[in-house]
Amino acid sequence: MRSSRPHAASRYLPEEGGLAPAVHRAASLAEEVYDAIFARLMALKIPPGARITVDNLVRELAVSQTPIREALGRLEGEGLVVKTHLVGYSAAPQITRARFEELYDLRLLLEPEMAGRAAASMTDQALEALTGAAGVNLRGGGADERARYPQFARQDAIFHDMILEVGGNGLVRETLTHQHTHFHIFRLMFHALVTEEALDEHEALLMAFASRDVDAARLAMRVHLERSRDRLSPAFDQ
Ligand SMILES: [Zn+2]
Repeated sequence: MRSSRPHAASRYLPEEGGLAPAVHRAASLAEEVYDAIFARLMALKIPPGARITVDNLVRELAVSQTPIREALGRLEGEGLVVKTHLVGYSAAPQITRARFEELYDLRLLLEPEMAGRAAASMTDQALEALTGAAGVNLRGGGADERARYPQFARQDAIFHDMILEVGGNGLVRETLTHQHTHFHIFRLMFHALVTEEALDEHEALLMAFASRDVDAARLAMRVHLERSRDRLSPAFDQ
């Protein structure tokens, strides 16, 4: 899975000097365009259900249609964008409260157990990778909250997927991957608190992993998911 990159929004301006090889630049342009559209979806600048016009994005991002269509195809695969015959692209509709409850139910059934198993089979190498993926580098530091939020959504997906990978059940991992829970959940609310508190909870998980404490890892994951659910459920009361 790809990692998030900071300050993506400033990077689709043409490079000066032309030092990077053309192919490399093209690959990076596709990434930047993807990041830019992803950030708009996460920040609800493109609200759930809204039409997405390729021509508008061409103007806004000052790039050709090709990287935009490529990015939209990728976002479609991630469940964030829907393509309808003869209509074109739109942002995926917001999940319902019932679906939200079901998603957290599913996560609470599976993820604490997998966190316990991950703690039991934790290697130094995996712990290092998890520490790098937990998103704690996104904490504070005066970074623009609005830029940080989509990055954390991405990072959170990577962190939880990595725990499932270390947990060692491929079917559980696939099942949760296919739900794209993180993207749907993060789109519910755009709030700095979501990031700060979740990072504290990620640190608690890392501590349990570091001490290979199975019960503590299970508990830390359960607490993290329950708090995450409680932070986000008010989005349905608006
Ligand atoms: Zn998390």
